[in-house]
Amino acid sequence: MSTIGSSSEQDVVGKVAKGLLIGGEWRDATGGGTLPVEDPSTGESLCEVADATPEDAMAALDAACAVQAEWAATPPRERGEILRRAYEAVVARAGELALLMTLEMGKPVAESRAEVLYAADFLRWFSEEAVRIEGRWATAPNGGMRMLTMRQPVGPCLLITPWNFPLAMGTRKIGPAVAAGCTVVVKPAKLTPLSMLALAQILDEAGLPGGVLNVVTARSAGKTTGPLIDDPRLRKLSFTGSTEVGRQLMAQASRHVLRVSMELGGNAPFVVFDDADLDAAVDGAMVAKMRNIGEACTAANRFHVHASVADAFTEKLARRMGAMKVGRGSEDGVEVGPLIDDDQRRKVAALVDDAVGRGARAIVGGEQPDGPGHFYPPTVLAGVPGDARLLREEIFGPVAPIATFATEDEAIAAANRTEYGLVAYVYTRDLDRAIRVIERLETGMGGLNQGLVSNAAAPFGGVKQSGFGREGGVEGIDEYLSIKYAAIRV
Ligand code: NAP
Repeated sequence: MSTIGSSSEQDVVGKVAKGLLIGGEWRDATGGGTLPVEDPSTGESLCEVADATPEDAMAALDAACAVQAEWAATPPRERGEILRRAYEAVVARAGELALLMTLEMGKPVAESRAEVLYAADFLRWFSEEAVRIEGRWATAPNGGMRMLTMRQPVGPCLLITPWNFPLAMGTRKIGPAVAAGCTVVVKPAKLTPLSMLALAQILDEAGLPGGVLNVVTARSAGKTTGPLIDDPRLRKLSFTGSTEVGRQLMAQASRHVLRVSMELGGNAPFVVFDDADLDAAVDGAMVAKMRNIGEACTAANRFHVHASVADAFTEKLARRMGAMKVGRGSEDGVEVGPLIDDDQRRKVAALVDDAVGRGARAIVGGEQPDGPGHFYPPTVLAGVPGDARLLREEIFGPVAPIATFATEDEAIAAANRTEYGLVAYVYTRDLDRAIRVIERLETGMGGLNQGLVSNAAAPFGGVKQSGFGREGGVEGIDEYLSIKYAAIRV
């Protein structure tokens, strides 16, 4: 039973198609199975969506394969203009999409709105990139032939996305795939399928031909997508999610040597040197830590602060985080919504308890509230010892552990002491140091006196066990193109 509050909440949920999009048709799952979508601020059901069977997923791949050649031959300008129309529609409907996202994911509406606009930006960016898929022409060094290099769509793709950014993680893949001339099957996270279903409706209305985008929602991700990964007609898997699941999918993809992109977990260090502008560092920390309730792969997972400024930084950060209003994301003034589910909340609480058990001090937060919803308070932990689990594991919650360092070498060693390598944040006013440190950090991205790196025009992605491949920027479309070279005798 639906227990949505206001009529506008009922409206935005009511407008979303709840079926599977296959070959341009919305349809029920075979057998009529459904799965519930919950509001994490109440734990109550918002609605039910279709629960695809493996046969439904295969029908989606059939539909993608059926129109692949035609879509690849569609003029790039036409592909771009469809994306551009979708961009404009997403921006025009930002308010309702933001509310929908908040209902299924929990973050405050203002933050959902920021994600909707960020998501739309990938549609705009790749609408512009569709017409810039270029090749090369060269004379072989010995003059004996000409070399023509072209970039062609890779073919049907499977796109698997997580719950934490329900729209942007989708457009970051759909935008470049569609621009490149690929057809796709998208499997959104079962916890937050509504934003993706709404996006599919918008792309449909923008004129995307049936079969180019197919969406399957399912209770059992592995059972539904497994047969697709094993099907030799699939040419590409792009996954955003945990490193653990990414590893399994890579193993599975190896069977047909399937091309893969992996946007996986993070454990971002946030390094504050003694010469940093501390107020700017705290402003940056608030964004890097608290954006998305801390449930971001780019979230500052641990703060390494020079011992001489650690007390001042901790006090300022604790004051700001302790003053944040926690509550249902659709309520006025709320800055911190609930965590996605109770498993996530238990995990965060266990990491905090472990750190406190090893000697860390909770300056604010640290106590789980009673009542409905999966809330956890903004928490600052000082004096976190090197063996605390949360320095190694992805927290995915509003918890800021602070550890200290004495020298630049020590800070860099601590920052790199992780199997992850997505992003690092560095605060310093010394230009030489900034360049030295950024160059030595083992990450795919760096924020220099800047707490937010995400931008549709930039290549987003990691190194080490944070994955490989880049989304956004001029690099993003390459993930969906194959290079072909023709040797031409002259
Ligand atoms: P997850 O558990 O790995 O799930 C991600 C997606 O994979 C979901 O759609 C999930 O479906 C699906 N999935 C799970 N098991 C699968 C299997 N065996 N076969 C095929 N698909 C499977 O991750 P999450 O908890 O949703 O997301 C949080 C993680 O994503 C964090 O580690 C975060 O750092 C990472 N992330 C990375 C980036 C980046 O760009 N690097 C961006 C955002 C998030 P179900 O929903 O049905 O489980």
